[in-house]
Amino acid sequence: MKDLLQGLIALQNVELEIFKAEEGLKELPKEIDEIESIIRARKGSLDAVDEEIALLEEKKGPLEAELKENQEILDAADARIKRIKTNKEYLALQREIDLAKKRKGDIEEQLLGIMDKIEKKGADKERIQKSFDADKVILDEKKDKLLAQMRELETVVAEYKGKDEKLRASVDPSLLSKYDRIKQGKKGLAVVECHHGVCRGCHMHIPPQLYNELVRGDKMIICPTCQRMLYVEDEPGKGKAEEKSKEESKK
Ligand SMILES: [Zn+2]
Repeated sequence: MKDLLQGLIALQNVELEIFKAEEGLKELPKEIDEIESIIRARKGSLDAVDEEIALLEEKKGPLEAELKENQEILDAADARIKRIKTNKEYLALQREIDLAKKRKGDIEEQLLGIMDKIEKKGADKERIQKSFDADKVILDEKKDKLLAQMRELETVVAEYKGKDEKLRASVDPSLLSKYDRIKQGKKGLAVVECHHGVCRGCHMHIPPQLYNELVRGDKMIICPTCQRMLYVEDEPGKGKAEEKSKEESKK
């Protein structure tokens, strides 16, 4: 029986490698997407500060124009005041000058307020940019690592694909269909070692009577708990499938 199972164990090892690689290839792009969306969000908050600064800059233009206009009014009034004859005219012009001066003060105050805000936003931007630059190095590194992992997994799949078909062809068809049925929902692990009476698939003891039958090796023994096909490793150090099942059971 062990000999019959040997081909199946080899097939299972190959299929497990493919299975693990394909699982990784499904998961890794999600992790990469996550990193990319973090970078996009961070970039977005930088763009938002830029936009706020641009809006403030836009507000400056009309005020500066008004300030210039106001200065022209004051300059013209200065020129006129020397030629004034009556007290009435003088008072009217003085009122005009006072108004223009007050407006000038208002505009200057507004401009100062805007420039103050721009300066603060600029400092914000610098701070955000600095932390973004530092984090982006880490995020890019992470992403590169994930991409490298994906390439590795793709190599594994390419390496093992084809091998599985060859092994399938060499296994007894009825055994193969049994194996295919069992591995469904068992993370691809259908054949496991039974070590000192303990199933490596589910870590449960199998009844002693069953274990004896398994050791005798004249018929197929299924674990009563997890329904996997069992085998006993007779030669130490020959157990590739044992390593596999150990790896699997750690998950
Ligand atoms: Zn079991």
